[in-house]
Amino acid sequence: MLQVAVVGSGPSGVYTAQSLVQQDRVPGVRVDVIDRLPCPYGLVRYGVAPDHEKIKSLQNNLRTVLEHDRVRFLGGIDIGPGGFPVARLLGLYHAVVYCVGAAADRKLGVPGEDLPGSHSATEFVSWYSAHPDAAADGFVGSGFVGGVESAVVIGVGNVAVDVARMLARGVDELRPTDMPQAALGVLAESRVREVHMVGRRGPSQARFTTKELRELGSLPDTEVIVDPAELALDPAYADPSGLPAAGRRNVEVMRGWAERPAQHLPRRIRLRFFLRPVAVSDAVGRVGGVRFERTLPDGRGGVTGSGQYEDIPAQLVLRSVGYRGVPIDGLPFDAGLGTVPHLTGRVLRAGAASPGEYVAGWIKRGPTGVIGTNRPCAKETVQSLLDDAPALVQRDVPDDPLSALRDAGLRPVEWQGWLSIERAEAELGAALGRGVVKIPDWAGLLAAARGA
Ligand code: NAP
Repeated sequence: MLQVAVVGSGPSGVYTAQSLVQQDRVPGVRVDVIDRLPCPYGLVRYGVAPDHEKIKSLQNNLRTVLEHDRVRFLGGIDIGPGGFPVARLLGLYHAVVYCVGAAADRKLGVPGEDLPGSHSATEFVSWYSAHPDAAADGFVGSGFVGGVESAVVIGVGNVAVDVARMLARGVDELRPTDMPQAALGVLAESRVREVHMVGRRGPSQARFTTKELRELGSLPDTEVIVDPAELALDPAYADPSGLPAAGRRNVEVMRGWAERPAQHLPRRIRLRFFLRPVAVSDAVGRVGGVRFERTLPDGRGGVTGSGQYEDIPAQLVLRSVGYRGVPIDGLPFDAGLGTVPHLTGRVLRAGAASPGEYVAGWIKRGPTGVIGTNRPCAKETVQSLLDDAPALVQRDVPDDPLSALRDAGLRPVEWQGWLSIERAEAELGAALGRGVVKIPDWAGLLAAARGA
């Protein structure tokens, strides 16, 4: 019987497991879904913003897969450097599918980006999502509470929209979410009044989706401000009819905002375009703002510098310029693309498909697309794996890989352990007079998983 390990329990990993157990070409496939964390769901738990309850409820669909008879969740197992080696894992299963996502953030490569007060959006997201690797004092020690009135978010993708919206939310809107208590306390005291979200190209080239963009305009006490003259630098602004549908809808939303009279609300999100970051400026050892060069469209979808500069003062800078895949020790890696080289999901070693090794999700195709994009991506990989199955099952593997993992000294958090964490988070929330509240640290998660 075909035994498969899926490494990573985010959407791509769970959709891979689902495709494997819901097909009938190779009956009876067994799947272990392994995760480094004791909690499943990857970026659905640790990336989707806490106020996006509807998207988070996708966890219920993913749960059904992880509770399938022939699927097991094995949390708390680190594969790769310092953890369980890739080669040994392949010895325990007929096939291993890596669905590890893109864990790092891209750098800007400008002076000052590592100054105190300048963070990657990923750090901020991890902190308010209670990721156990997020720095314990998170944004408390960075001066976030004291004195931040203006924040700059660099990038105009959906992550930028998420962090801008979280900065603009009031405590009453955040309390009903599952965000950790400490982060809620910090954001409750936030004095942020201006959030500048800045793109280096034009409004028609912004990467955010229209639903997410439109939501910014419906935040209580927050006004979205756009400068029609700046938007009009984009040739497609005056007549967006030739744009792809997503770009056209985005431009239409922004045109609506440009025509609206000022509302003078307490908080403002300023959408800015054609500004390329050149330095994060230093105000006595910490962030004082960002220097941008004004850009101009080059007529080919890109921009050129104009030699004119603008400084936006800010005490907090969030760099939201995309994720980047991280190499897994023992697997090939294309450092330029930040992905594992593959052919329809089969890992390529020196240009040839490596028997039994596969990839799906962001580590396969790069950090693009919405959650649903992972479904066809996983399906393609599973088709390749099933095509290879007759050869793969010829190799002897242990009857129960879990015993072998335990013999190697690992103590996986199984499904019951995760259910204990869920119960502990519900109890924590009840004790705080809130709904479910996430546990933000390794010790707390592992204690809850072991029923302590
Ligand atoms: P993204 O969509 O790739 O956006 C990255 C942004 O950073 C772009 O505006 C890009 O501009 C800009 N950028 C890149 N390098 C830059 C530089 N050196 N200087 C200035 N700007 C730079 O990435 P993301 O926002 O991290 O999102 C990742 C994926 O997750 C996306 O597919 C997104 O849709 C998805 N996601 C979805 C949701 C949702 O559906 N609610 C929520 C969060 C994330 P250029 O275009 O000019 O390169």
